[in-house]
Amino acid sequence: SSGSDDNDVVVIGGGPGGYVAAIKAAQLGLKTTCIEKRGTLGGTCLNVGCIPSKALLHSSHMYHEAKHAFASHGVKFSSVEVDLPAMMGQKDKAVANLTRGIEGLFKKNKVNYVKGYGKFISPSEVSVETIEGGNTVVKGKNIIVATGSDVKSLPGITIDEKRIVSSTGALALSEIPKKLVVIGAGYIGLEMGSVWGRLGSEVTVVEFAADIVPSMDGEVRKQFQRTLEKQKMKFMLKTKVVGVDISGDGVKLTLEPAAGGEQSTLEADVVLVSAGRTPFTAGLGLDKIGVETDKIGRILVNERFASNVPGVYAIGDVIPGPMLAHKAEEDGVACVEFIAGKEGHVDYDLVPGVVYTHPEVASVGKTEEQVKALGVDYRVGKFPFMANSRAKAIDDAEGMVKILAEKESDKILGVHIMAPNAGELIHEAVLALQYGASSEDIARTCHAHPTMSEALKEAAMATYDKPIHM
Ligand code: FAD
Repeated sequence: SSGSDDNDVVVIGGGPGGYVAAIKAAQLGLKTTCIEKRGTLGGTCLNVGCIPSKALLHSSHMYHEAKHAFASHGVKFSSVEVDLPAMMGQKDKAVANLTRGIEGLFKKNKVNYVKGYGKFISPSEVSVETIEGGNTVVKGKNIIVATGSDVKSLPGITIDEKRIVSSTGALALSEIPKKLVVIGAGYIGLEMGSVWGRLGSEVTVVEFAADIVPSMDGEVRKQFQRTLEKQKMKFMLKTKVVGVDISGDGVKLTLEPAAGGEQSTLEADVVLVSAGRTPFTAGLGLDKIGVETDKIGRILVNERFASNVPGVYAIGDVIPGPMLAHKAEEDGVACVEFIAGKEGHVDYDLVPGVVYTHPEVASVGKTEEQVKALGVDYRVGKFPFMANSRAKAIDDAEGMVKILAEKESDKILGVHIMAPNAGELIHEAVLALQYGASSEDIARTCHAHPTMSEALKEAAMATYDKPIHM
């Protein structure tokens, strides 16, 4: 035994759900141990997700700007080159610093950290096969499963992380592929496609559905797709991959219309499979203690994050809901608050979603399609960044703000932003929705000039009245 038999809380998994839950639990005075098999903290998000992808998105954007935009701002270079190992090095440094930072936070908050693979032997005991070798048993009154998710392949496609890669391989390619095919037009595929497209790859995105990023507001999505097409990203929608041939130098894909029909082929140097993620519970022994899961392996929990087995909780990507780091963190805090006898709360209707391409697309609340389906009378207010002075001043004016508000009360139902920094701009809207604001509330709030945020104010004015600058 590890000498931590008297844990109040044991967290399995050190991702954004697990490590945040562990820190919060310790802050609430609970004796806490976190078990992580990876060797580093931060989970998918820090190691092979949010952080390395944002590092590469930023670096590749800088290169692209240097090559295509700086000259028009009067900044000239004699030559611009990509040093891919250096770019990867910068990404790896950012990841290493941040994962070590969480270890520091564990020490500061007195979270006991056990490096190893955890497995239930009873609802209050986890056997850990430690990274150094050997076994230890960690006991706790409450156990939180925060084991996250893993990459998912498609039938008949084997990911080798060289020619056929998951997002993990796409974050660490050793060469810039001439032709990159992305299977799946979700945000991960579009972000990674953008990275390699900016560095020179010819990118084709193959998607089974009729639309890219299905959760996005339809009007914003159309504009977003046009923008990506202008950046030379090609889309083959309503198309399925029916065969993969890696016998030659590259990869040869056989495609077919989603509805069936004539086949075609598509060649690639690298194929990225980004067709979703799957909850990760392998080797955890859930069946042994009788924890209920759904058809796709997600742990079923109630509104207090409790599973059907008393004392066993689950949070983050391993339970139903949006598979996002900030959602996992919210789950983690609320779950621990319940365990500590306090009240916790996560409003799943107000979890913002961001696609970190350039421009970014960010949204919160309902899309126009969802509002229509609800049958409420609504108003739409829009404002393009072409009419925003800051966006024009910096010559980065593609995108718009779209606000949906209930007609009668003017209460905001949803906000959708496409803009260079939409992922930051959206939080004013998240706060507005959190407080039940009307579009007039935003419109009558003084916004600093000249800022991109003024577009939100103008869109709000356009929702219940008229904008000034359009
Ligand atoms: P995870 O982060 O998956 O962490 C689970 C941890 O548990 C892992 O470290 C795993 O090793 C460990 N573990 C599993 N089983 C065991 C066991 N039995 N014993 C011990 N340890 C175990 N989300 C965003 O919000 N914004 C983004 O920009 C974003 N970008 C992404 C980009 C990519 C390429 C990918 C793949 C994902 C991205 N995500 C993003 C999603 C985000 O990474 C996840 O939603 C988030 O990491 C989920 O957190 P989690 O704590 O539930 O699980």
